[in-house]
Amino acid sequence: MGDLLVLWDVDGTLLHAGGVGTDLYNVVFLQLFGRSLEAFAPMAGRTDRAIILQTLELAGVAEPRRHVDPFIAGLTAQAPAVREAVALRGRALPGAAAALEALAEFASGPPPAAPGAPGAPGAFGAPGAPGAFGARSGRIHQSVLTGNIRPVAEVKLSAVGLREPLDLCIGAYGDDHEVRTELVQVARRRAAAVHGSSPDDFGGTSTILIGDTPLDIEAALAAGARAVGVATGPCKAADLLAAGAHAVLPDLTDTRQVLRALLP
Ligand SMILES: [Mg+2]
Repeated sequence: MGDLLVLWDVDGTLLHAGGVGTDLYNVVFLQLFGRSLEAFAPMAGRTDRAIILQTLELAGVAEPRRHVDPFIAGLTAQAPAVREAVALRGRALPGAAAALEALAEFASGPPPAAPGAPGAPGAFGAPGAPGAFGARSGRIHQSVLTGNIRPVAEVKLSAVGLREPLDLCIGAYGDDHEVRTELVQVARRRAAAVHGSSPDDFGGTSTILIGDTPLDIEAALAAGARAVGVATGPCKAADLLAAGAHAVLPDLTDTRQVLRALLP
């Protein structure tokens, strides 16, 4: 069996950042336009490119699309400055660290063992592995698929202690594309370039997304990926099921349950 690519959403799924997103937008908007923002576009489940564009429209900025890249440059410059605020006001969601660590045990294993060798270290179902997950023998690579631009995602994850188990080089971010579904292909390409043998690696349900909004679920399904919902953001479990999630968790506190949802 081939390797799997697990892509975590950040806000509402792995952590709550304590509202630093709107603070960052305010600072950058003030720098660029010399006034404060009075309204923000909806943020949950959306990419920074989409949020910036709509926020600029709401603020009455002329030719808003022209200002999206300068705005992203402003967010990038300001990202390190919010680390302390996230550390103070934000928090990792319960169970997130344990879930990442459990998956990391698979990620760090040796190359896939021969079929029928479930005892290989790092293989699913290996002795000592957190649960029996069939006879798969591929590795798991885990990263993020988030609407945050990468520097902001990295600061948030670092500030709450979740950065280490993730391979952020193979993730996809809110500055990569405006449309979340497109981010799935970005992450697949990056993962295949590092860990795969062909660009088609991580196609279909070899990629698994886990997120807290119907937009996460829709992005996964549109790309043919497995979709797992977690109801720790603004949406109820029923909303995530209605969006078509293959599995929905109330939270990440039960690591075995998380692994069963991600790795059926
Ligand atoms: Mg989210």
